[in-house]
Amino acid sequence: MTMSEIFESEIKSNVEVAPTIFKMELDAPELAKIAKPGQFLNIKLPSNEFTLRRPLGIASTLNGVKVFYRVVGRGTKFLSELKAGTILNYVAPLGNGFSLQEHSKVLLVGGGMGIAPLLSAAEKLREAEVLIGGKNKAEVTFWIKEFSRLPAVDIIFVTTDDGSYHYGRKGFVTDYLPEILSADKYSAVYTCGPDVMMYGTALEAIANGLHCEICFERRMACGLGACLSCSIETVNGRKKVCKDGPVFDAREFVEPENILGN
Ligand SMILES: Cc1cc2nc3c(=O)[nH]c(=O)nc-3n(C[C@H](O)[C@H](O)[C@H](O)COP(=O)(O)OP(=O)(O)OC[C@H]3O[C@@H](n4cnc5c(N)ncnc54)[C@H](O)[C@@H]3O)c2cc1C
Repeated sequence: MTMSEIFESEIKSNVEVAPTIFKMELDAPELAKIAKPGQFLNIKLPSNEFTLRRPLGIASTLNGVKVFYRVVGRGTKFLSELKAGTILNYVAPLGNGFSLQEHSKVLLVGGGMGIAPLLSAAEKLREAEVLIGGKNKAEVTFWIKEFSRLPAVDIIFVTTDDGSYHYGRKGFVTDYLPEILSADKYSAVYTCGPDVMMYGTALEAIANGLHCEICFERRMACGLGACLSCSIETVNGRKKVCKDGPVFDAREFVEPENILGN
């Protein structure tokens, strides 16, 4: 496992890519070399107002490290106001990432901000197709641009809740998934997004005999496995999302109550 350490990196850019969604680039070549898709960084906001660090998934390690985040509360609002040139302190790389190497063509299934770690997976995979879902056109368009640049990505399937992205479908990714999996061309499925979406995806993947990995998001305090605030029930007992995950083999959650009850 890669050792995590404290980094201090300059913010190269911090721009709004859709309403309330930001893309931040960090000048962090050393981290880019060691980070694995699915791992995250835990950011210390440069103000005495905030004691707890804020976790964000590593979305890209090509040409610098990138994160994408939605402004949901005080911490992410503060983050969105930081200017290029600011030095950011964070711990990284944290957690265990996607397994990557054993699979040939992987289907990446993401919803909302859960698409972020799948982008870094697509950068490292040999062959991938992507199924992403968002609330509306604005929330999927920037992701489509990011995935379209990657040589390993063949096809991008898109759903929006309101049907506003006309080249995609109206509805949820889980509505579209059975049809996509019926093509029978994948060796694995990686998923990240709302629990209900990941659970539906995992069931469908497992029913099709596919290996499936789930990337969880939980409120966490230390990010280092000490405080237990992010523990989650699995078929193998309680585990820590920050340390044992955030990526897990979906078979650890095959019982509905083990995923929905957390
Ligand atoms: C491993 C991991 C990776 C993550 N990656 C990303 C990412 O790539 N992009 C992104 O936008 N967000 C990501 N998150 C969620 C992100 O950490 C939270 O949105 C952020 O910490 C909220 O901070 P805040 O001070 O703005 O909100 P707060 O003021 O603390 O809370 C505001 C609202 O956000 C919700 N919230 C707070 N923390 C979390 C959390 N950990 N998960 C879900 N909801 C939360 C609260 O329930 C509340 O409704 C990730 C979380 C984890 C654990």
